[in-house]
Amino acid sequence: MAVASMDTLGVRFPKTERFPVLFLGHGSPMNAIEENSYTKGWAELGNILPRPRAILVVSAHWLTEGTYVHGTERPRTIHDFWGFPKELYEIEYLAPGSPEGARLTENMLRDPTPKRDHEWGLDHGAWVPLMHLFPKADIPTFQVSIDATRPATFHFELGKRLALLRERGVMIVGSGNLVHNLGRIRWENDPKPHDWAEEFDQAAERLVRLREFDKLIRHDELGEAARLSVPTPEHFWPLLTVLGAVHENDKIACPTGGVALGSVSMRSFLFS
Ligand code: ZN
Repeated sequence: MAVASMDTLGVRFPKTERFPVLFLGHGSPMNAIEENSYTKGWAELGNILPRPRAILVVSAHWLTEGTYVHGTERPRTIHDFWGFPKELYEIEYLAPGSPEGARLTENMLRDPTPKRDHEWGLDHGAWVPLMHLFPKADIPTFQVSIDATRPATFHFELGKRLALLRERGVMIVGSGNLVHNLGRIRWENDPKPHDWAEEFDQAAERLVRLREFDKLIRHDELGEAARLSVPTPEHFWPLLTVLGAVHENDKIACPTGGVALGSVSMRSFLFS
């Protein structure tokens, strides 16, 4: 297979203004069909964002050994959740893929060079919020996997290596949850957040706004609230990748917030 050179790709992805980078707390797959403050927040955000040439998603739900870039023309909609209502499994978010965006990404990521994937698609960490942000599903979208064998610093550095894509019309989206403890979910109606969940959600927001990203990379040193909020790192890592792609001139906003189900932060960050 011929590999496109940077020059060829430069024609398809000419230099642009720096595009925003976004972290989304995706929460429950039910957000695909519910209308709530988060889904409304995503829809409003979609209305104000510039239209990118392509969207690159790093989702908590694509964990691999090594880094992969999905590069098909027609990514499938992956229903990677169990025990939810039938209508959720019938949703298809059929945004076109971006093989060129994947190639451009591969050219930017070196040491290690990522592998190309043709099996994945868009998992629910990607399509659940995107169906509210970009309901027409007409923007080419592709995913970069999370190398689950790597430490937190790697995921931050990955964002640094992806940052130049912002100046090629690519919107980088990290999808996870700042606080994500499924073992401590409160199933009652409209549950009160756990104190530690609110504490860490707010502490992390403060650190982002102060740009003390190094402290978030070392989140396991931030005490008990952090340990309860991030019992496993996969939903936190997409935030680190997003922070790696942040530019010193970016303004910081939180288009959505709040803690759902007692232990899942729905906070999002927009850097633009
Ligand atoms: Zn998730």
